[in-house]
This record gives sequence, C-alpha cells and structure tokens, in this order.
Amino acid sequence: VLETLAQSNAMMGNDCRRIGRHTGEKMKFERINPLTGECASTSIAMQPGDMASIANTAQSGFEAWSQTGPNTRRAVLSKAAAALEAKKDAFVDAMMNEVGATAGWAMFNLTLAASMLREAAALTTQIGGETIPSDKPGCLAMAVREPVGVILGIAPWNAPIILGVRAISTALACGNAVILKASELCPRTHSLIIEACAEAGFPDGTVNIVTNASADAADVVGALIDHPAVKRINFTGSTAVGRIIAKRAAEHLKPVLLELGGKAPLLVLDDADLDEAVKAAAFGAFMNQGQICMSTERLIVNETVADAFVEKLQAKVNTMPTGDPREGKAPLGAVVDERTVSKVNSLIDDAVSKGARLVSGGKSDSVLMQATVLDRVTPAMKIYREESFGPIVAVIRAQDSEDAVRIANDSEYGLSAAIFTRDSAKGLTLAKRIKSGICHINGPTVHDEAQMPFGGVGASGYGRFGGKAGIDQFTELRWITLEPQPGHYPI
Ligand code: NAD
Repeated sequence: VLETLAQSNAMMGNDCRRIGRHTGEKMKFERINPLTGECASTSIAMQPGDMASIANTAQSGFEAWSQTGPNTRRAVLSKAAAALEAKKDAFVDAMMNEVGATAGWAMFNLTLAASMLREAAALTTQIGGETIPSDKPGCLAMAVREPVGVILGIAPWNAPIILGVRAISTALACGNAVILKASELCPRTHSLIIEACAEAGFPDGTVNIVTNASADAADVVGALIDHPAVKRINFTGSTAVGRIIAKRAAEHLKPVLLELGGKAPLLVLDDADLDEAVKAAAFGAFMNQGQICMSTERLIVNETVADAFVEKLQAKVNTMPTGDPREGKAPLGAVVDERTVSKVNSLIDDAVSKGARLVSGGKSDSVLMQATVLDRVTPAMKIYREESFGPIVAVIRAQDSEDAVRIANDSEYGLSAAIFTRDSAKGLTLAKRIKSGICHINGPTVHDEAQMPFGGVGASGYGRFGGKAGIDQFTELRWITLEPQPGHYPI
C-alpha cells in the first residue's frame, strides 16, 4: 500500500520530498538534483520516534570506544581517511547530483576532509592533562581530560564532506561516540562518510547517522537533543537554526558548538597589490558559487584605488563562466536550489533600485547563476548586511583604513576576514581590530586547514573546531586529587 504524503511534500518544497511507504517498510525521501530535476538520491526518512534507539546504540558504542587506547583510535581514524579517499568517484558523483557542485569543489572537500581525519588521528596522543600545585601538603592534584559520551554533529550541504567529517572527527579522536545528522540536501554524500568509517573498523555503535526529510528536521533534531545519552551538540548551519538548537540544548544545560553564517569582508587598502587582491576576491567570492561560510561577501575598498580595483575585478570575473558541472568546463557550477536564485535576484533588484552599479553578471532564471559584482553598495541596501550565500559580491567604498575597519565591523557576523596591504605592520594592527574569529593578511577569506582553530564571534557562533582547540570542545576537564594519609580536618 503506497501512502501519498502530498501534504508534507508541499511543506518541504520541491528539493526534498517524501516518497511514501509500503506497509512494514521504512519511509523514504528523495533529494532532487537542482539542475536536472531528477532524483539524485533516496534515503530513509527517520522519525523522531527512531532517535532513542540510535542514541542508545551510540551509548553502547561509547562504552567500547572510550576504553580504547590512543594508538588504536589513531589507527582506525587513519584507516577512515584512506577509506574516504578510496570513495573519490562516489563522492564526486554524489556532490554533483545532490548539490550541483563542480568536480573541483568535491575533490577539494575530499582532500581537506581526509586531512581532518588524519589530524584527528594525530590528536589522539595529544589529549594531555596537567598537574597543578595544591595548597594541601603532599596532595597530587591533576587536571584530566576525559571523553564526554555521545556527541551529536549536525552538518550542512555546502561543503558536505569537510563539514560532515568535521562534525565527528575530533569528537571520535577524544573517545566519544557520534551521531551525524545528515543534511536533507545531501544525505548520500553524508552517508558515504559513515560508510568509510564503517570500513575503517570503529566498534559497533560508535559512528551513527540520521537521515530525515526536511519536514521532520525540527522534531528529529529536537528528539536527539532531548535524549539523555546525547551529551553535547555541534551545529554548522544558518544562524536562525543555530539559535533554535542552542535554546533547545540550554533546556538541558547541554553545551553547544555553533558554526553559523558569515558576511566576510575583504579590505583593500590604498597600498594593496591590486592584482593579488583581485585574485583573492574572485576566488573568495565565487568558489563554490559563493556558498561557503567564509565566502567574501563584502569588498571594502579604499576610494583612491576603488576604480582600478573594480576594473581589474570585472576583467577577472569575465573569465569565470558558469556551466553544467557534469561537463567539467566551467569554474562555477549550479547553486543548491531555486531559493538561492530568488534570494540573489532580489538582492540585485534591491541594490540596483537604490543606486548600486551592476559591474558583472546579473539576475538569473536558473540555478546556473553568473558571478555577479555590485559596486557602490551602501548601508541602505539589503546586500550590505544580509548573507547572500550565493555568487554575488558587494563593493563598498571606504574613505581610508579607519573607515574600512569601521565598515568591516558594521555587521552582526564575525567569521572570516581579510586585509590586503603592502604594510605588514599596519595589516597586523588592523587585523587585531576586526571582530572576527579568523583574519588573513594578504590572503583570501576562504581558507581552512585541519589543524587551525576555526570558528566565529557574534552571529557567526561560538566554540572552535580544529586541531588542539577541538580537544577542549569534545572532552570533559576533571580535577582529580590523590591525598596524603592521614588527612587533617578542622572539625
Ligand atoms: P540550515 O541551518 O538551514 O540547516 C542545517 C541543518 O539544520 C540541517 O541539517 C537541518 O536538518 C537542520 N534544521 C533545519 N531546521 C531545523 C529546526 N527547526 N530545528 C533543528 N534543526 C533544523 O543551513 P544550511 O542551509 O544547510 O547551510 C547554510 C548555512 O550554513 C549558511 O548560513 C552558512 O553560512 C552556514 N555555514 C556555516 C559554516 C561555518 O563553519 N560557520 C560552514 C558552512 C555553512
């Protein structure tokens, strides 16, 4: 008996739809290829009622994995990196079909994600503690890091291998069990990560995945956060959903790591090497069609060099066409859905109607959007503040370096930033004044390495992934003492 779920399909839009259920079978949902409209993948539409059993399975996995030594964990994580790389073709195919990514972006994802697993493998012997001098004579006082339990990691679709792996790798290195809550927009891509982990030989129950249709996301995630076995949550996604998750977790006093949206500024000072700045700006704004949390959204350019900069940027962007990612000829592929097309189109309409100059690109009627540059953007325009998460960048002209820093900080977000200047000392001084988790001098806003502390401030979230900073997030720091006998007590 096939149940038609027209009502919930309508709620989910056309990018992810439930496809019905045969009696006794699990409900499924389809991810639709944004470019072709064909089914890209079919996954199980897990329900809130399924979450208790997954959390309990993860708890039993935790009991085994947390007892393993660092070299056992290191070996399994290293194998997972190799297993991930061995699935190269499947990953490229899944990302192209599910999110319209180019092969280049998929390969970059795979390389960095494998590096994250290898960094996690290396961290297993770096989870140190310390001894702290105690005021009690003869007392040995220790600060000891221990695994926490079951960690829920929620990852988005835009850099799916990197962010799926990031959500679980350091947590696993620290001896925790994990549940990866896959994005509805790329459940196949996220499932391939879990398949690689299964091949690597984690104990049963250590690495788990939840796939769900969009209409069930809030209830599924809510059930996981509420479950007593789930001790911490990490979430990468939009600021709006991050707030929902942080509030729900706060009900249980469960710590959360939030990696949210961005509106990264790239400052071009009057002494900048304009050719270098243009290369970084074009890459940062348009890699993966601008759908990266660190994407350059604001080019804050000193007025004295702005005309020259914009002219060079226009020439560069004209060499960056958009094309069907399956043909592999163009640097830009498809955006993830029609909502992105409408959002970017409306940002263009709003800005142009308020006096912005369209330098390159323009509105689109399909998910193959052209790289778009708007000059003379002002605070009155929506694109000045709103994250576009699409292939569009705003040029904002600044009076001088002070004004550039003021504009950079005129945003609720604070993830990544960049400054182009030939004066390194000035670059460093200004970098310290920009409110962001990350700032690169003479480099693009889009830059990630597995061993670096990655995260933002303000509406971009809190907490840090990456390298040793990640150990703090995924361990419990305990104070343990060994006291001399006999003890001395005042009463
Ligand atoms: P999203 O917030 O829409 O979705 C992320 C996840 O949240 C999905 O798995 C979804 O199932 C879940 N979700 C949706 N509604 C929910 C609800 N009501 N309750 C609980 N969970 C819910 O984000 P997205 O569109 O997948 O990703 C794009 C956003 O992610 C952008 O804002 C981007 O800047 C941000 N991002 C941030 C980083 C970072 O490291 N800071 C990296 C990549 C993307």
